[in-house]
Amino acid sequence: MASRRGIRERFRRVRLVAALVVASLSLTAIWLVASIQADAARIAVGREAVETLAVQRETLTGVLDKYRLLPPLLARQQDVAGLFRQEPDTGEHERARLKAREVASLSGAKDVAFLYPDGDVLASAHGFFLDRSPDREALIEAVRQGRLGRAAIAIDSDERAYAFASGVRTGLTLIGIVVVYVGFDEIEATWSLSTNPIFVTDPAGTIFLTNQPRWRLKPLHEIADDGLPERRFRVGSMAIPYLDLVRDLPLLDWRLHVLADARPVMEARLTGGLIAALAALLGAALVALVVWRRERAVLGRRAERVAALRLERLVRDRTRALNATNRSLSSEIAERRQAEDRLRKAQADLVQAAKLAALGQMSAALSHEFNQPLAAIATYAENAGEFLARGRGDLAGDNLKRIGQMVERMAELSRTLLSFARKPGTSTMPVPLAAVLDEAMILVGPRARKEGVALVVDERLRAVDVVGGRTRLSQIFVNLANNAIDALAGRPGAEIRVDLEDAGETVVVLVSDNGPGIPEEIGGAVFEPFFTTKETGSGIGIGLSIAYSIAKDFGGSIALRDGPQGGCIFAVSLRAAAAERQAAE
Ligand code: ADP
Repeated sequence: MASRRGIRERFRRVRLVAALVVASLSLTAIWLVASIQADAARIAVGREAVETLAVQRETLTGVLDKYRLLPPLLARQQDVAGLFRQEPDTGEHERARLKAREVASLSGAKDVAFLYPDGDVLASAHGFFLDRSPDREALIEAVRQGRLGRAAIAIDSDERAYAFASGVRTGLTLIGIVVVYVGFDEIEATWSLSTNPIFVTDPAGTIFLTNQPRWRLKPLHEIADDGLPERRFRVGSMAIPYLDLVRDLPLLDWRLHVLADARPVMEARLTGGLIAALAALLGAALVALVVWRRERAVLGRRAERVAALRLERLVRDRTRALNATNRSLSSEIAERRQAEDRLRKAQADLVQAAKLAALGQMSAALSHEFNQPLAAIATYAENAGEFLARGRGDLAGDNLKRIGQMVERMAELSRTLLSFARKPGTSTMPVPLAAVLDEAMILVGPRARKEGVALVVDERLRAVDVVGGRTRLSQIFVNLANNAIDALAGRPGAEIRVDLEDAGETVVVLVSDNGPGIPEEIGGAVFEPFFTTKETGSGIGIGLSIAYSIAKDFGGSIALRDGPQGGCIFAVSLRAAAAERQAAE
């Protein structure tokens, strides 16, 4: 997993690249939009200027064309040639001046001059341009070579003209030169009506004609920079951007310029650029937002992953700890189970010991129970022998029958004793209460009789089945009855009653006696193991506690109640077998 710093570093690089890309795209977009806007504005702005340009070009070439042919025509006129053939100092200057004036006024030329081939002036209509200038020399040179001379001539900003010149010849000999000067005052006057600056430059770049008086005869580079496509022109103290629309005037070697105010173009470019810049800014913000959100998402995912890993580690640690606890718990449980097993065995041993103790308590009475019938059997056997000797078979048979009955009784007692003394099973099942009580009565009956205690059993008990083990259940009643006999011994009218109180889901059997009862301060303590009030040797104090734990094992209980006339009532609660069956179903 990439570290947090690594992710940040990566996104810093992404941001840098994005910034470069966005910046270059933005610049391109700004340039494109600004150019498109400027082009559109330029077309709109330039439309009028282009028209002006075409018109002025026509005007200018028209004017010059008109004068171009004048010198050759004049040169061929006889009276003009005659001016040069006359002898000097015979008034030819005056005649020539008159001719020149005539031509100038008829044609509207600015001036007309007649020159000698060497350049000296014969006559001039208005006396302009008499100084020899390089332009004039070039003009004369062209004529000498037999061409039409042409030159722009400027003395100062007020004295400018275009000159056409043609040679006057006799045969091949050049005898004079006719020069016609074309003025531009009218053209400039027309131009000055135009809002657009208009001017003409000669091949040297000097502004020859213009509707801006200050620009006259100035080199173009002095008043304008070389900016493209808008040039800044100095107008007064300001530099104003203009679109410079240019047409060549090939005949004259001139160039005609018409300027259109370029400020709307610049404004359009600025507006377009600004809009594009705003859009680019928006785009850049959008890109920045996307990159930022992406970075946050990546960092967020990383944080989640870190948290998940931390949680996983925590779970792993906890699981390990839990497993360890589980293991120690399991071993503890095993130990406890072993301890329980040992306890259960000890309890079983105790139950058995208590049972044997009860048997011991009853042994005198029981052996008496055996001795009595044995003595009777001996007597009956003797009698039977006598009767047989006397030939009284019927009486002998009667005695033998009695012997049989007694043996039967002894055998049953012995069976009961054996089954009671045996270690009980551990299973739980429905047991008829009749069988349990019969067994208990057989066992305690002899002792009760011996101690003069009457045993009364409620007949309704015979119809009830409870849940438990037969031997262990009879142990409960044997213990209770033995305790009652202990308490009642030697009392007149002593009686133990076994009654059915309730035969619902829980069967409640009351074992009561009319003995002295249990003092209130002792109360429930009688159920505690090894609690006894009897003399050493006659009781060890586990009878009631065993009875209680047997009842508890079968899901029941034993409670002590006060008898109505003193005495004790032990209420034995047991689960009814019918309820057990229902629950099982
Ligand atoms: P033990 O009979 O060996 O003393 P038990 O646990 O059977 O031990 O009885 C505990 C005590 O409860 C007896 O010592 C006796 O004081 C008292 N007890 C039990 N049953 C009766 C009863 N029916 N009448 C009077 N006291 C009784």
